[in-house]
This record gives sequence, structure tokens and C-alpha cells, in this order.
Amino acid sequence: MANEAKDQKYPFKLPALEYDFDALEPVIDAKTMELHHDKHHKAYVDKLNEAVEKHKDLQSKTLAELLGNLDSAPEDVRSAVRNNGGGHANHSMFWTTMKLNEGGKPSGSLASAIDSAFGSFDDFKTKFNDAGVKQFGSGWVFVYSDGGSLKIESAPNQDTPLQKGIEPIFGNDVWEHAYYLKYNNRRPDYLKAWWDVVDWVAVAARYEKLRGA
Ligand code: MN
Repeated sequence: MANEAKDQKYPFKLPALEYDFDALEPVIDAKTMELHHDKHHKAYVDKLNEAVEKHKDLQSKTLAELLGNLDSAPEDVRSAVRNNGGGHANHSMFWTTMKLNEGGKPSGSLASAIDSAFGSFDDFKTKFNDAGVKQFGSGWVFVYSDGGSLKIESAPNQDTPLQKGIEPIFGNDVWEHAYYLKYNNRRPDYLKAWWDVVDWVAVAARYEKLRGA
């Protein structure tokens, strides 16, 4: 009860994973999923809550509002909001866009948008993986819709397109904590394998929701 009461006063919550830690095996191992969700993502949520604890007016803001207006955030918590708010937003998206897809591919208007922007699904994956390999150090690769046209963009640390007011459709985490236990230093192998756990149904739903935005 004490914990519940304590939790309720914090505005940001760690979302429950909607599947078991081993659901993405063998592409992403269960231990990585457990540490990634229960430790890494939780730490971003906890530190974000600590940051907004110091400035109550920030507590009622959404992640999009916080990250889209970093310049107006109080200077003493600006980095904490950027890193931990970004970490919370990025991981919340990440968990809900993955599922073992058994070789699945995008279909419908999402597939057309990919072909139109990148030539083909294979060319799209090559460009995305390349962006992930070239991201120096920790970061992400995102796909977002820019006026209906798809873009691939890498970002360092926990930065996100939300900082320029754009919600990403999906993306991959290229921090070592996302892959090191199974792939060690072989980030390119992780990036290639990861396509087998993209939930194309969820990604297409996000694409449809966001493309008018
Ligand atoms: Mn991560």
C-alpha cells in the first residue's frame, strides 16, 4: 500500500510490457528484454519523475509537450527531461511496435509509402540499417512521416523527433544495452535480425494515425 500511494503521486509510469520477456526470442533474448524494460526503461521513468518533482508545473505536461519545448524547460532540469523524457517516450514506442512477425512485411498504404520514398522494402531496410550502423555511440534510428513522405533519421542518446514536434512511427534502439548480451559488439547483425520482430500491424496503425498529423 505504501508503494501504491507513493507511485500515485508520480505523473509518469513505466508501462507494462504486453508480452513475455521471451516473446521475441530468438531475435531478442529474454534476459535483454527483462533488463531493458525493468531496469533501463524504469530508470528513465524514475529520473523523469525526479526531475519534474522539482518543478510542479511540468508534472501535468505530456511527453510531447515536454520534449517539444525543451528551450522553455527550467535550466536545472532541461538535460534530465531531454534524456529521461526521451528515454521514456522512445521505449514506450519501442515495446508496442515489436512482435515476432515470421518474415512479415509491411502492406497496404504503408508499403506504398515505403516504396515511394525508398524504392523498395529492401532498399528501405538497407538505408535504415546503415543509419543504425553509422550512429556513433548510443542512439536510435527512427522512421517518421514528413508531410506524408517517409523519412529515416538517426539520433544520439535518447533524442527523438518529438523535439521538433514529430512523433516517430517506429524505430530501433541501437544502445549496446539493446543487443550486447546476444550480439556482443555486432550491431549490424542485430539491426539485420531485428526486422523479424517488427510488428507491421502496429506500425501500420501508427502510420495511419500519424500521417494526417
Ligand atoms: Mn534502450
